[in-house]
Amino acid sequence: MLKRILVLPALAILATVAHPQTTAQKPALVVMITIDGFRGDYLTRFGSQFTGGFARLTKGGVWFTNAHHDHGITETAPGHASLLSGRFPRSTGIAANRVGVLDSNAPLLGFSGGLGASPARFQGTELFDWIKSVDPKARAFSVSAKDRGAILPIGKSKQQVYWYPGDGEFTTSRYYADSLPAWVRKFNDRLLPQSYAGKTWAPLLPDAEYKEIDDVPAEGNGVDFVFPHVMPTDPDQAASLVRATPFMDEIIVAMALEGVTALDLGRGPGTDVLAVSLSATDAVNHRLGPASKESHDQVLRDDRIVGVFLDSLFRLRDSSRIIVILSADHGFSPIPELAPADANPRPTRVSLFPALTAARKRLAAAGVDSLAIDVDQQIVLMDRAAFKGKKISPESLLDSFEKDARAINGIARIDRFANLARDTATDPVARRWSHQFPANTNVEMVATLTPGSLWGTLLVASHGSPYDYDSNVPIVFYGPGIAPARRTEFVRTVDIAPTVAALIGVKPLEKLDGVPLNLK
Ligand SMILES: [Zn+2]
Repeated sequence: MLKRILVLPALAILATVAHPQTTAQKPALVVMITIDGFRGDYLTRFGSQFTGGFARLTKGGVWFTNAHHDHGITETAPGHASLLSGRFPRSTGIAANRVGVLDSNAPLLGFSGGLGASPARFQGTELFDWIKSVDPKARAFSVSAKDRGAILPIGKSKQQVYWYPGDGEFTTSRYYADSLPAWVRKFNDRLLPQSYAGKTWAPLLPDAEYKEIDDVPAEGNGVDFVFPHVMPTDPDQAASLVRATPFMDEIIVAMALEGVTALDLGRGPGTDVLAVSLSATDAVNHRLGPASKESHDQVLRDDRIVGVFLDSLFRLRDSSRIIVILSADHGFSPIPELAPADANPRPTRVSLFPALTAARKRLAAAGVDSLAIDVDQQIVLMDRAAFKGKKISPESLLDSFEKDARAINGIARIDRFANLARDTATDPVARRWSHQFPANTNVEMVATLTPGSLWGTLLVASHGSPYDYDSNVPIVFYGPGIAPARRTEFVRTVDIAPTVAALIGVKPLEKLDGVPLNLK
């Protein structure tokens, strides 16, 4: 037995010596840049104005313009969980933001209040696990303004994962570490977020370069909706509000570069992973809409910010050994109130509560616990056991709920999850829903809004639907051996992880939904 153990490492060394060239050229770093709420059309719409990172990546890489998150709830957590896992939410266990990374067993370091965060709900493996299974020395570093944006691209692995809860400091949770490393404390001590106090966000380019009208009161609900936007002079207030400005993305990039140096990431001989998630576009779009002048400017600024990031990274590390992927966690829907006058049906704001209230009355009348049916925004859940021995059946209650829901303005369809057509090409809405939950889910029905409509009144604009405006995101692969091309065929974000795995020569550890894309 002992002999066998000794023989295996010897063989492994021989194999390495036999192919020295392949080993030397192996990519040393995979960089995943994810821009939160970055619509698929931004790169074409503003393309002529790019001079930085977006220009470099789209001109020098393989750019897929018809790429989609092919799932039903296009939100941040499910998007980030699919990007580097190659799997739909039905198998990652991350079906919505609400069931994302919050975990009271994993408190944040240095923050006494609030919930903790961890990948406890995430199921299965990701690209980094596949790399680490063949190279135990491989490391990953992930940074985002949001906990879910930092945690989910890496999965369960206890790596260097940091985010910005909004109180002026980057942190991690006890899932990853018991204390912050010295380099993170040093970075926090620089008070970079606080340094934006009193600064002004004005358009980057002359006004003639923007087609958008700035003075639109529906943007920002009539509050602070025209340029220039001035940051509060109080450093603590500025450090909190900075999250909804392009300055946040500058801070994330500074933190990412600091980490690459401090952690000595991407020097080889194996392949490390760096995940950088830029969240400001999402925050700007939620407040002012994805067609606002501010959103346009935010995209231009991200082009410059990503440009500085890549220039700096390529000075620190050998660019011929770095693969860069650019994508987004979801797209964005315009402000419903600003829909064109001839939009039919007219986009509106919707809630399933009228149908829920009616269903609960029916349950109470039949002597069933009225909480046996519940609604979580667009999904309907039911406790079937509560109906046992009662005069009302689960099916008849769902039938009446369905009828009531159909009568609500803004509901396009309501489907029994079990009856949804699976991998159909002709009904993308059904297909996307079928990719959202596992077959054994307790989700009974899923509701789909009319195009452009939104759930609730809280946000000026949002995302989350199975429609193309929310599912379409850019995918760009850039790096050694990748020749520039613009491709228009339909691809999915679950194809990213298997494509990168093929590029760096590692094998997925489980069955994926995605397939390796041909970049030739
Ligand atoms: Zn969002």
